[in-house]
Amino acid sequence: MRILILGPQGSGKGTQAKSIAALHDTPHVATGDILRTAVSEGTALGRRVHPILERGDLVPDELMVDLIRERLLDEDGFVLDGFPRTVPQAEALDAMLDEIGKPLDAVILLMVSDEVATARLRARALAEGRADDSPEAIRNRLRLYHELTEPVVERYRADGTLVAVDGDRAIPEVSATIEEALAQVGARS
Ligand code: AMP
Repeated sequence: MRILILGPQGSGKGTQAKSIAALHDTPHVATGDILRTAVSEGTALGRRVHPILERGDLVPDELMVDLIRERLLDEDGFVLDGFPRTVPQAEALDAMLDEIGKPLDAVILLMVSDEVATARLRARALAEGRADDSPEAIRNRLRLYHELTEPVVERYRADGTLVAVDGDRAIPEVSATIEEALAQVGARS
């Protein structure tokens, strides 16, 4: 099963991606997690992206595409969380999947308002103290989502693969809606 999950930070993307991955026994590939691990391990990649993550900016497309190519070519299925975040990333992903003859089964969009996303991110900042959950970084990330990632959403909406789900509900309710949608598109586990 090859699934993309899109939505602003604070939409519950990570939580839902983990749950889809567990239910369908498919790897959860989260670019934010990969980058944070590189930062905490102090690798060359980590040192390069650390200041970018702290500001809530986006890591350059080229670097992200190389990173994801390595991961995806190894996997038969995946729940991709955090990528693509820009149109050039989406184009690179489409080309990669075309090349290996493995199209996406579905693209899930978790919809939440900026108010809900901001409130959730502030709560997470208190609970987990993520450096990129500072008020400035939160504002920056939501701005970049609207500017650069929403065109990606529109791309998948136009080609009919997008399933939009109301993310402003309790976690199990959102999960149930996603599972119904996946069953409908006949996603194979
Ligand atoms: P996330 O955990 O998905 O919110 O990602 C945390 C941070 O990692 C983002 O704010 C970006 O700085 C960086 N990042 C993750 N995925 C990408 C991507 N596909 N393109 C550019 N930057 C990314």
